Amino acid sequence: MIAELCFKFFDEFFIEGTSETWYSVKDVYTELVRVDDAVEVVRWKRIWKLQVQQRVKSFVCLLAHGRMWTNFQRSIRGLGSAACDICGGVAETDIHLIRDCTKAMEVWCQHVPPLLQQVFFSLNLEDWVDANLSVDSKWI
Ligand SMILES: [Zn+2]
Repeated sequence: MIAELCFKFFDEFFIEGTSETWYSVKDVYTELVRVDDAVEVVRWKRIWKLQVQQRVKSFVCLLAHGRMWTNFQRSIRGLGSAACDICGGVAETDIHLIRDCTKAMEVWCQHVPPLLQQVFFSLNLEDWVDANLSVDSKWI
């Protein structure tokens, strides 16, 4: 009798709020991360359409979503100092690591035209990543 019941009632998976038992990976991903922001979708597509190695895409994706394992992130979890190992005093955040650290700034200043440097160095992380992913980026 128990075995008969087990076979009669089986588990079904469906997205919350629907009764559909058919769904795609995209549907599940969208539901899990709640990617309903058009800007986020555009950024996501730009990253994954980059003509670069997969590891570069992964790096940009982590950066764009604030998921870099920086000293600041480690310090939040009690794993050491937030200070940058290269320039010292300030917290090593995502934007500091990739753009604002003294060593990074030296590299960027060699490539970004002087007239655009004020804007280049003033954008927040999301806007900076978007500007760099933009087809009409004028930095370099
Ligand atoms: Zn630094």
